[in-house]
Amino acid sequence: MNISLIISSAYLIAICMFIIGFMRMHSPATGRSGSLVAACGMMVGIGATLIDKGILSYNMIILGIAIGAVGGVWLGRRVKITAMPQMVGLLNGLGGMASLIIAIVELLHLITTTGDEVNPAKGFVIGFTVLIGGVTFWGSLIACGKLQGIVTSRPITYSMQKTITAAMAMVGLGLIIYLGFSLNNMPLLISLVIISSLLGILLVLPIGGADMPVVICLMNSYSGIAVVGAGFVINNVFLIVSGALVGASGILLAVLMGKGMNRSISNVMFGAFGAVAENGKLGLTENKPVHKATADDVAALLSSVKKVIFVPGYGMAVAQAQHGVSELGSILESRGVDVKYAIHPVAGRMPGHMYVLLAEADIAYNKLYPMEDINSDFERTDVAVVIGANDVINPDARNQPGSPLYGMPILNVDKARHIVVIKRSLSPGFSGVDNPLFYLEKTLMFFQDGREALDQIISAIKNY
Ligand code: NDP
Repeated sequence: MNISLIISSAYLIAICMFIIGFMRMHSPATGRSGSLVAACGMMVGIGATLIDKGILSYNMIILGIAIGAVGGVWLGRRVKITAMPQMVGLLNGLGGMASLIIAIVELLHLITTTGDEVNPAKGFVIGFTVLIGGVTFWGSLIACGKLQGIVTSRPITYSMQKTITAAMAMVGLGLIIYLGFSLNNMPLLISLVIISSLLGILLVLPIGGADMPVVICLMNSYSGIAVVGAGFVINNVFLIVSGALVGASGILLAVLMGKGMNRSISNVMFGAFGAVAENGKLGLTENKPVHKATADDVAALLSSVKKVIFVPGYGMAVAQAQHGVSELGSILESRGVDVKYAIHPVAGRMPGHMYVLLAEADIAYNKLYPMEDINSDFERTDVAVVIGANDVINPDARNQPGSPLYGMPILNVDKARHIVVIKRSLSPGFSGVDNPLFYLEKTLMFFQDGREALDQIISAIKNY
């Protein structure tokens, strides 16, 4: 069989494996094997590329793969689940930088082999890849820095910010066109690299830290587009298709997250919504009475009911309370209580956050219910136990047209007969707005760290 047929077939197999991997990631039950299939697809693609491209020396490539493998395994094992958005962001950024480097190296190669006699279309593609690669790298670094607390998470805005950013984008596009007609022009290339870096930084700095997960999805999409560019630059079908898949999935995820928060992507990018969350506790009313509860009160309530829904939120992830939730759920089930877990699409700080955490605590997938499937159950539920969730259960999103949350789909926790909320204080969540649910007659507020609270309830319920 001829070698190019083998290579094309390997690329086709790798692409199919990506698609199968993506399809399996659709459900938490198959997500893990989906990741594995996609990773194996990447290995097949890399293997085919190594045969395809007439490599002269494998030494550096093997060294690179070894460093990448060690770094990847180390990161995968060490990084906490709450820090996953940063890690994904960093990897996106590196993808953007890799595409930028490929484009520049190919440009230098073309200059030395053909001089300036290159089809302008090739020059445009190279310029475009440099621009989007630079934006992705620097934008992702700023997003990671904000999430990690290295860069201030406050939205940094200044006068004429949008005009300046738009003007820089126009200059970047102008440089790409110029580069198409004047490939052998180092100052032009350096200017394009500088503009793309500045653009990446200036696009992300004005966005609040709390919106960074959406930004990271967008950067994921940009990194895919940069890879498509790199694929056209070196005529590699595998890069083109895999980049297109990443680009499309990143943008779809960003749109889905936007829908879950009832916000458009442009509102996230230009709305400085994080400013509300960072600057103040919008609408937070001081000194309103709440019903405070102890672990014993909650245990007594839970020991006399038939149907319970647990509602995990970001605070559960921070407190790492998922194992306590799982243990309490098992105790209740062993006593004949019907236990379910309600999952809001944007509960937490990244899509699917709660599924991953609860699955890690060995809670069966068939007990995890997405919002649309469980919302009608709340009115027939004796107790809804909320652990570190806030915005995703705020009834103002349904009832108060003036609220920043208005229109965001929420879990109907307020319809349950009794509500227990576990959190440390009356502090607001991500949106910075107060939650009237906490002041309802039927709501018990257990002010405690999530993990501690669950431990205390578990030991108290054994007495009932
Ligand atoms: P929220 O951010 O609304 O609320 C989390 C609550 O957890 C806080 O009120 C906090 O209260 C409490 N908390 C923090 N630490 C602890 C702890 N150790 N123990 C107990 N409680 C704790 O979280 P939700 O999950 O309800 O909502 C997610 C928000 O994030 C939404 O607004 C969503 O739009 C946004 N978002 C989600 C994304 C996603 O993809 N999932 C992406 C981007 C944004 P206290 O300090 O009093 O303990």
